[in-house]
Amino acid sequence: MASTTAELEALLMQRSLTDPHLLAEASKAADFQILPDATVIKIGGQSVIDRGRAGLYPLLDEIVEVRKSHQLLIGTGAGTRARHLYSIAAGLNLPAGVLSQLGASVANQNAIILGQLLAKYGIPAVEGAGLSAVPLYLAEVNAVLFSGMPPYGLWMLPAPGDVIPPYRTDAGCFLIAEQFGCKAMIFVKDEDGLYTANPKTSKDAKFIPKISVDEMKAQGLHDSILEFPMLDLLQQARHIHQVQVVNGLVPGNLTRALAGEHVGTIITAR
Ligand code: ADP
Ligand code: MG
Repeated sequence: MASTTAELEALLMQRSLTDPHLLAEASKAADFQILPDATVIKIGGQSVIDRGRAGLYPLLDEIVEVRKSHQLLIGTGAGTRARHLYSIAAGLNLPAGVLSQLGASVANQNAIILGQLLAKYGIPAVEGAGLSAVPLYLAEVNAVLFSGMPPYGLWMLPAPGDVIPPYRTDAGCFLIAEQFGCKAMIFVKDEDGLYTANPKTSKDAKFIPKISVDEMKAQGLHDSILEFPMLDLLQQARHIHQVQVVNGLVPGNLTRALAGEHVGTIITAR
């Protein structure tokens, strides 16, 4: 057992970086949370932002109010314009890495739009949430906007035989929450949460208030309300052990979720 830094260093110098003993020892260090008081919220692209005024104005009013008592890292989805770009680019046989760049440009547009709407409250949109001024903005105005697409760009790891980037804005926002050791991750979408089937197309879909990743997979719901690689990311996470999906079209839901109430669906790692 490598209990000191020197012993861990010796292991790291001598062994393969995928050596199981080395990995076990390296992960024993106490967890460190970079932004433990912040909550990441993702504002859905297709589900919320694409609705324009009707979807956004009430939600942004709520955000402006609730950030007085909660630190918020607000990520944007991409949505319909990205899907349009994906269809053109995929039709031209362009690879996943290029589609990833295109999707990122749309999430970025959405961050710019929300940044303009929240500018008068001093809430800025940052380019890339990889820290820089993020802690300062959180300290000053309790909120900051970022583009939700992970910046893999051309280096996006493609799914086998597929050109649609598997890690999009759900994953991008989740990874920010996990890497920064944030308090919680809330997805703001346009349905009350997870159902037994897509409520937009199935009339008799039943609402599921709480579910684990394994149960979701067992029920064939892995590709439903969240990007499906998200479920594996959640199971492997060290800090974030559950995510909440809430309906952002219902005023008050986000505020209640931030207050720790069980609104929407809670998806647990185990
Ligand atoms: P975002 O705008 O954040 O990208 P999406 O539109 O990708 O959100 O995902 C939310 C949508 O997922 C909902 O509007 C709903 O139509 C769809 N959906 C598919 N299957 C389900 C399900 N089983 N339960 C709830 N929503 C589902
Ligand atoms: Mg989506």
